[in-house]
Amino acid sequence: MTNAVLIVAAGRGARLGAPLPKQYLALGEKPVLRRTIRAFLDHADIDLVQVVIAEADRDLYSMAVSGLSLPDPAIGGDTRQQSVLNGLEALQAHAPDNVLIHDAARPFVSEAEIVDVLEALVTHDGALPVLPLVDSIKTIEGDDVTGEVDRATLGRALTPQGFGFAAILQAHRQAAGRNLTDDAAVARQAGMSVKAVTGQERNFKITTQNDLHRAEQVLEVDTAGTALEFRTGSGFDVHRFAADRPMILCGVPIPFRLGLDGHSDADVGLHALTDAILGAIADGDIGDHFPPTDPQWKGVSSEVFLRHAGQRVTARQGHITALDLTLICEAPKVKPHRQAMRESIARILALDPSRISVKATTTERLGFTGRGEGIAAQAIATVAVPGNAQESPI
Ligand code: MG
Repeated sequence: MTNAVLIVAAGRGARLGAPLPKQYLALGEKPVLRRTIRAFLDHADIDLVQVVIAEADRDLYSMAVSGLSLPDPAIGGDTRQQSVLNGLEALQAHAPDNVLIHDAARPFVSEAEIVDVLEALVTHDGALPVLPLVDSIKTIEGDDVTGEVDRATLGRALTPQGFGFAAILQAHRQAAGRNLTDDAAVARQAGMSVKAVTGQERNFKITTQNDLHRAEQVLEVDTAGTALEFRTGSGFDVHRFAADRPMILCGVPIPFRLGLDGHSDADVGLHALTDAILGAIADGDIGDHFPPTDPQWKGVSSEVFLRHAGQRVTARQGHITALDLTLICEAPKVKPHRQAMRESIARILALDPSRISVKATTTERLGFTGRGEGIAAQAIATVAVPGNAQESPI
């Protein structure tokens, strides 16, 4: 099942009184049309987006869609209906099963509206999102109110309007030259069944200057929640020396007469880093995610823990910006291995080594590290996450 989208961007937007057609106006530094196209390109159920433009707008279009993966635009006609027909004819080469026909000036189409329209096409020939009317509706002649209309039987038609591709192409060919207000009307003229699904108020069409202001406000609210903020976490860990154990520090095997005791491979450096990253996103600690009582983590490489912590950041649409680790011991000597450790951590987390610092210090022969009983490690992680990042269950 392939689903194509036809975006109708051939209008000249005379009502807005702007120097550019409204679909090319900047909305938060990106053209309205680009935002509309992205809403569909980013949707998992959409395979292809075809745009219909005015011949005169070729340069504007090229700039608006630079870098996006799209077929050449179709060129519109004198009316919206003619432009849609031209777009459908262009889409015929791709033979999609369904087509969603959408206004270029509705950039805030929601994922739910796209899904609901596509789902409705399982049982109907066509579907469109509809909004209820909230005001009382009157019939008017001149200045006189002449009657009341039951608003419960009325709805405001939005787009995308979805159809079986072959059927709507045929319907549009038959309707050519007539002046029907939207594609659902063309479909019904051809006897196709059309289902109304729930539309959303934010899927409004940018037609007037007021609409453009409203769109800017919607965008502001959206981006306020997704703006990145920086968060910091710290981690600390200690493991005691043990004979007959490997010495692995930051994923790097270190030649030394002793190893470190622990349930896993006892990589004290990676444990401190893991806790620092989890701390930065307030996501518990290493013991919550990998209980030492669970036999499946016995002897496991601590790379698993660190990679998991990194994935918890990614799951919140965040990324790690810096890691700073200090290993505290009298021996083994860390310095000869620092570069290998940075590269090891970089590989595990798919980060650039320039974001990773590994340092070493002693405690001047004081305390348990000074007496050579084990190694301590402390780490600080800085991550960038959207301000609206939600907690996810462990
Ligand atoms: Mg540990």
